[in-house]
Amino acid sequence: MSDAAPAGPPLTYLDHASTAPLRPEVLEAMAPFFGARFANPSGAHRAARDARAALEEAREQVASVLGAHPSEVVFTSGGTEADNLAILGPLAAAADDRTTTAVVCSAVEHAAVLAPARAAVCRSARGAVSLELAPVDGSGALDVAGLEELLGADTAVVSVMLANNEVGTVQPVGAVVEAVRRRAPHAVVHTDAVQAAAWLDVAELAAGCDLVSVSAHKLGGPKGAGALVVRGGTRVEPIIHGGGQEQDRRSGTHDVAGAVGLAAALGAAASERATEGPRVRALRDRLCDGLLAAVPGAAERAARCGVLPGHCHLCIGGIEREELLVLLDDEGVCASAGSACASGALEPSHVLAAMGVGPCEARGALRLTLGRTTTDADVDRALSVVPRAVARLRAGGPPGR
Ligand code: PLP
Repeated sequence: MSDAAPAGPPLTYLDHASTAPLRPEVLEAMAPFFGARFANPSGAHRAARDARAALEEAREQVASVLGAHPSEVVFTSGGTEADNLAILGPLAAAADDRTTTAVVCSAVEHAAVLAPARAAVCRSARGAVSLELAPVDGSGALDVAGLEELLGADTAVVSVMLANNEVGTVQPVGAVVEAVRRRAPHAVVHTDAVQAAAWLDVAELAAGCDLVSVSAHKLGGPKGAGALVVRGGTRVEPIIHGGGQEQDRRSGTHDVAGAVGLAAALGAAASERATEGPRVRALRDRLCDGLLAAVPGAAERAARCGVLPGHCHLCIGGIEREELLVLLDDEGVCASAGSACASGALEPSHVLAAMGVGPCEARGALRLTLGRTTTDADVDRALSVVPRAVARLRAGGPPGR
């Protein structure tokens, strides 16, 4: 196996929301746990104690960045598992009461939230569990009054992401918490901070939430490592059963390297937030403004002042997103159009639909996401490649490879 970059033109990587390049310091922090410090932290010998010390140190670091107590951090296999635990865990815990059975989510949640909620509805006997989706405005921002109408004494879980993965819109999670405490006293509040953690102070913005999901690979950490903060007193039944690790909240032999990588990535992102946010925001603004000027018929649907610094999302009239991505890929520009399913095929965007974007316009969606490694040269290259590719498609040129 080669560790060389993919063949072809030099890469212009503008898909950081999909995954971010691994930070060298994270790789360095993880390396010992693939070597001499390999032990299982649940063991009873000195090697196990060493691994356990590293795991607990990582837990303290994660807790400190996320504004939690170390005992509230549950390590998971990533954002998807953390989200599944956040939805299914409280529902299972509430099953005995039979009074709180409703899940309320924003209509623009990631599939890692919506799919377990839908699965719980399907599996429940005689429609005992219900799912309601709260509306968003044309920018993808939650309509808090609309959410409030869906809340009641039977609400078990409310899930609203801190920032959206497709368009980058930051949600008013503080207002969500207030509304839930007022209208749904038995409900737990979850926020999916998987995209937000690279840019925002999760400790402050999600302080009132009972459950908070993060994922290492969106921050320059390893894939397959994440955590769910479960605030003290929040009832969550495990969804993975076995040896009782993580205080019986998540069984399975610990991935010590993954936990150490998550801690290092969260720490690095937090320490450079004040400088990286404005730097990347300026690059993103130049990219967005340049594309809006150079590509007739391109429109930005989410108000830029309310989105994450790295997100540039455009709908480009008269083109098909799949064809545009092929042309960009040929030029070495790695972009995306929204959420890709496991096969890489594009799914229709429920996010754009909820924002009121028609299917025709949504077919021309382009998501360029910038991050820690993005430079002026990347923006220059995208500004030269994207308008040419759109013009070629509009002139009827085949995407042919
Ligand atoms: N939630 C959001 C908002 C995401 O963007 C993603 C990944 O794209 C996930 C959850 C899933 O995280 P993971 O890839 O770590 O399973």
